[in-house]
Amino acid sequence: MPEKPKGGSDEKSAFQIAQAQLDKAAKELALEPALAAILREPMREIHVNLPVQMDDGTIKLFKGFRVQHNDARGPVKGGIRFHPEETIDTIRALASWMTWKCALADIPLGGGKGGIICNPKEMSPGELERLSRAYIGGIFRLLGPDIDVPAPDVYTTPQIMAWMMDEYSKLTGAYCPGVITGKPLALGGSRGREDATGRGAIYTVREACTHLGMDPVNATAVVQGFGNAGTYAALLAEHLLGVRIIAISDTKGAVISKHGIDVAEAIRYKRETGSVAGFPSTKPIAGDRLLEIETDILIPAALERVITKDNADRIKAKIVAEAANGPTTPEADAILHEKGILVIPDFLCNAGGVIVSYFEMVQNRQSYYWEESEVHERLDRKITKAFHDVLMTSQQRGIDMRTAAYCVAIQRVIEAMKLRGLATGGKAKKDAPPAKPAAKK
Ligand code: NAD
Repeated sequence: MPEKPKGGSDEKSAFQIAQAQLDKAAKELALEPALAAILREPMREIHVNLPVQMDDGTIKLFKGFRVQHNDARGPVKGGIRFHPEETIDTIRALASWMTWKCALADIPLGGGKGGIICNPKEMSPGELERLSRAYIGGIFRLLGPDIDVPAPDVYTTPQIMAWMMDEYSKLTGAYCPGVITGKPLALGGSRGREDATGRGAIYTVREACTHLGMDPVNATAVVQGFGNAGTYAALLAEHLLGVRIIAISDTKGAVISKHGIDVAEAIRYKRETGSVAGFPSTKPIAGDRLLEIETDILIPAALERVITKDNADRIKAKIVAEAANGPTTPEADAILHEKGILVIPDFLCNAGGVIVSYFEMVQNRQSYYWEESEVHERLDRKITKAFHDVLMTSQQRGIDMRTAAYCVAIQRVIEAMKLRGLATGGKAKKDAPPAKPAAKK
């Protein structure tokens, strides 16, 4: 069953949205229907049921998924989410977005995603460790540095990646840091991975500001979601570009200050209190109103489908930088485009995470680790190039940035698919005569 939307009245699930976006780009590219059909579906899905012993001695069964969407350009790559409302539908959508993201960033990887239905906020470290190890036990035969390389995502951490890497290494009998990224530095993590998603997003915002002739020092930004992607996007918008952050939010509350929010202080406050709600020198504001604040830059950095046809018309930002995956529904997309808002689409805007994850894989293979400044420079080069590839395609074809991003990514994936051979068993010869019946002996 496709998941029902959480946000507005738009009726598509996350995966239906991903397919609708693909269909639009496929039409723009006049893609052969057979190719579009392949790209609409994941190549493989793994469903596991994981019995885990809880601290009170009881056994609880958890459901987990891993979806491998497309591996034409290399091993699949994508995060693992721990979320109480996780669904296979969302994981399918996210896996397909990873295919496009890796292709757009021009890194030699395909798309995958994983998730476990659980509430990590209610679990002890021991329970989380046992669940993480059980998940790897369930899927390890289809993982590996040349097959599928997971990473952290919503509510999963470097510690969880460390347990998963350890379990994989134990099961396969060899230390294998390259099976997973987002690891702690001591276990082969990369410098610069922690802030990579937010940093990449801000590099794309910088390029968008230049394109629009907007001086970021005079610009304001609103950030929805104050987790990994959102905190670093806010912090680096302030530090690298001089943008004034005027509103931030998390699940427990949203706050606004027209004079600007000291992001580093807000991070410290959230660490102590568990939320941005009540941050001194700010006023509370309703979470759903936050997206509609008068601002230059809006950064949705929480979950999917928050900008819908119900609120898109009230979005006042000049730039929407989608640090989150899938925050905008297709109906809302059309409205934003109509209003002349520049949308930096998710799989461009938040590609910094997977780009540095790819750098982590490269460093693991080399067993040689780079300085942080080197990671930042290489990330900047890759994501800035991706931004301009999309902008140029958007201008040349006269299409919105998201469809342009799809067009660039699809063409790269299709090229790899065609070079490798599209279907199993090799190419059928169109003009070959029908096979002769075997001669009777
Ligand atoms: P996270 O768990 O670190 O943070 C999520 C934050 O969003 C939390 O602060 C939570 O309180 C907040 N949130 C959730 N629902 C909200 C709501 N309705 N209103 C306001 N705040 C809300 O997760 P993350 O890693 O920062 O991921 C956030 C988004 O970025 C997701 O869409 C994820 O797929 C995407 N993303 C993350 C990475 C990464 O490297 N972390 C990479 C690419 C994309």
